[in-house]
Amino acid sequence: MVERPRILVTGGAGFLGSHLCESLLAGGAEILCLDNFFTGQRANILHLLDHKNFELMRHDISQPLYVECDEIYNLACPASPVHYQFDPVQTTKTSVLGAINVLGLAKRLHAKVLQASTSEVYGDPAIHPQPESYWGNVNPIGSRACYDEGKRCAETLFFDYWRQHRARIKVVRIFNTYGPRMKLNDGRVVSNFIVQALRGEPITIYGDGSQTRSFCYVDDLVAGIARLMATPDEVTGPVNLGNPSEFTILELAEMILTITGSKSQILRKPLPEDDPKQRKPDIALARQTLGWEPTVPLREGLIRTIAYFDTELARGAATQ
Ligand code: NAD
Ligand code: UDP
Ligand code: UDP
Repeated sequence: MVERPRILVTGGAGFLGSHLCESLLAGGAEILCLDNFFTGQRANILHLLDHKNFELMRHDISQPLYVECDEIYNLACPASPVHYQFDPVQTTKTSVLGAINVLGLAKRLHAKVLQASTSEVYGDPAIHPQPESYWGNVNPIGSRACYDEGKRCAETLFFDYWRQHRARIKVVRIFNTYGPRMKLNDGRVVSNFIVQALRGEPITIYGDGSQTRSFCYVDDLVAGIARLMATPDEVTGPVNLGNPSEFTILELAEMILTITGSKSQILRKPLPEDDPKQRKPDIALARQTLGWEPTVPLREGLIRTIAYFDTELARGAATQ
């Protein structure tokens, strides 16, 4: 009999983490889901709590932890600019001390450890699309730095533990990902626009809306992350994961207005400091190393996500 792998997922009650827990559990693993519930919610994992192979642990990853496992997915970190700028010092601690703790744990257990890094390590990129070889353009003292530099330092720690201690590391650089279980007040563009469209409130476009992002549906992303974890130890990454179809923010707003049939007006707001002007992943490495590419087009993913938010808003209205 093959033993069940025991997998620690930090940030497991968050948007991506909850989908990852669900998928790994369905694959037969035993899951230890760790979260401090800063942006995560019990509702995301409520349907998993009774599963015999699922365990929930409330813990802050910036503090050491002593558990036993075979693999670690380190997702704990607020990801929306609104949330990571709320307590920037804690954001850096989460990334940096969190990385040290999961690496120390992985080193002791000789476990594989995967870091959820981000396209934000490329900052406001001067190269387009962004390959993994690009070193990035990040303002180290701006309001996004706690997240960008925290994630960059976490990558440094992963590669130093690999060189110095032969830690079994994997690093994914995730590009904008969306889907069901984003919070209504998450603050990121897809959830903001959908909630505004469904409520008939103005769609808040920051700047002139010509800045671009490339949006990946959550199921595609989770499949890519699991594929990287399954690679041999020589494959460390970093590997970009994202959907290379690029849209302006204005195009995104128009697509959401069309799908929802909403009459919401467009409301322009100032562009936040250091907001990247363009972003699109070069996924040649993921295609080649993982045989992975996204399958869900933006329109299709938005239809599924809008259905989720529609239900959530109706539930909220029913309980008021
Ligand atoms: P999310 O905010 O929904 O999830 C983050 C989870 O981490 C939450 O459950 C939160 O409560 C938990 N958390 C935060 N600080 C913690 C701490 N100190 N200790 C323990 N738990 C903590 O965001 P998400 O979109 O699911 O992002 C998950 C991971 O993926 C993050 O590391 C993020 O940086 C990375 N990522 C996401 C995207 C994206 O587009 N969704 C893009 C790039 C990278
Ligand atoms: N650590 C942990 N769990 C473990 C092992 C280590 O949380 O099972 C933490 C601990 O806080 C430690 C950090 O990871 O400080 C780094 O561990 P490492 O062994 O690399 O360094 P050291 O223990 O020498 O500081
Ligand atoms: N954005 C916007 N309106 C919103 C939220 C975000 O126009 O209500 C813009 C934001 O300025 C950025 C893009 O949408 O250019 C993506 O923002 P998000 O916070 O989702 O992610 P990130 O900037 O981290 O890629």
